[in-house]
Amino acid sequence: MRYSALSIFLNALSGNRHWQPAWREPAPKPHYDVVIVGGGGHGLATAYYLAKVFGVRNIAVLEKSYLGSGNIGRNTTIIRSNYLLEGNQPFYEFSLKLWEGLEQDFNFNAMVSQRGVLNLYHSDAQRDAYTRRGNAMLLSGADAELLDRDDVRRMLPFLDFTNARFPIRGGLLQRRGGTVRHDAVAWGYARGADALGVDIIQHCAVTGIRREGDRVTGVDTTRGTIGCGKLALSTAGHSSVTASLAGLRLPVESHVLQAFVSEGLKPFIDNVVTFGAGHFYVSQSDKGGLVFGGDIDGYNSYARRGNLATVEHVMEAGVAMIPGLSRIRALRSWGGIVDMTMDGSPIIDKTHLPNLYLNAGWNYGGFKATPAAGWCFAHLIARDAPHEVATAYRLDRFARGYLIDERGAGAQANLH
Ligand SMILES: Cc1cc2nc3c(=O)[nH]c(=O)nc-3n(C[C@H](O)[C@H](O)[C@H](O)COP(=O)(O)OP(=O)(O)OC[C@H]3O[C@@H](n4cnc5c(N)ncnc54)[C@H](O)[C@@H]3O)c2cc1C
Repeated sequence: MRYSALSIFLNALSGNRHWQPAWREPAPKPHYDVVIVGGGGHGLATAYYLAKVFGVRNIAVLEKSYLGSGNIGRNTTIIRSNYLLEGNQPFYEFSLKLWEGLEQDFNFNAMVSQRGVLNLYHSDAQRDAYTRRGNAMLLSGADAELLDRDDVRRMLPFLDFTNARFPIRGGLLQRRGGTVRHDAVAWGYARGADALGVDIIQHCAVTGIRREGDRVTGVDTTRGTIGCGKLALSTAGHSSVTASLAGLRLPVESHVLQAFVSEGLKPFIDNVVTFGAGHFYVSQSDKGGLVFGGDIDGYNSYARRGNLATVEHVMEAGVAMIPGLSRIRALRSWGGIVDMTMDGSPIIDKTHLPNLYLNAGWNYGGFKATPAAGWCFAHLIARDAPHEVATAYRLDRFARGYLIDERGAGAQANLH
């Protein structure tokens, strides 16, 4: 069923009794050409583009819980393509272009809102670094504008411009960046993939990977054994766990990343703003809540709880940027487990097993990457060759020394 104003009107006339479920609940078949492990944004987008763009039809997505239960439904919804390094920038710009046409493409309202992403700078050196980044963005075809303090003051008069330690000097603005309703992305891709014949199997955890020699032949799951021609792992914060089922040890640590939402307020933040003197990012949802977050918790964990020290750290940075935040009540906080690689950048690559493919290493920026990661991973699976914007995301770059260290933090995962 195609969603449109006409379909809403016609269904209203018949008492809304004829809406179809957005996707089927099929029983697993004994064998698929491609099995994708992980029904998050990336796994579902991979299935959608495999079917739609690359013509693969016999596909299953296996999800251990329900759709949207992972990081796709836990993130702070920010999309942007404001990167410096050539291994990253064209990839994220490709993703932003896909976001721009996504709702029409999969016929689902994901509330894509290009409200602008503003990164504040607080010193001359930081302004120079942002100028360089803005130039790299322009060279890749993205948009970027360097703002001075008066420009920023006109947009966001309530920021603390004269903070003694971190005075705000200006910002780097990407107007095409913004936010997207995160769980609607999972639902939109799921509905689109299902319509193309993909079997989406929820509550089906993969517990083992079957092999004959070097070839993967199938997976053991909580719903029986399922054979496959190709196996694709896309399990976000659990990449190390699923890869270990095939004997792989990844250059990845697992950390919790927390997010927060405040009580509902009248609209006052029109865009996404990030602090340049600490890790803090904030936007305002359509319901009025401020949605914000900061650094990952510094220790390795699979617990989604999160640590109070990080809560304090995030709040401190927020209040340093917007003093008025101290008078607002935080309503909820939650966490998600993210992969952190040694250079902070992801992996989209084949593995040492010829029919096992890996999409991993996604941390702070994995949501905005969803369309491009899905497209590029589908390209790799269908054609056995990397997409041109994802050639740098190789698994062996850590051994070869070709790191993509966007933050310049060195080989310490929790610092990226
Ligand atoms: C608090 C927080 C805030 C964030 N904010 C942003 C942001 O503002 N912008 C941005 O770009 N990124 C952000 N991210 C990162 C982004 O959300 C993730 O990088 C991205 O969602 C990961 O890809 P995914 O959607 O496929 O992950 P997930 O939704 O986590 O999907 C992986 C799926 O694999 C399933 N799975 C795991 N093991 C198995 C198994 N054995 N068998 C079957 N299924 C399995 C899981 O249940 C899960 O559903 C944030 C993350 C968090 C936690």
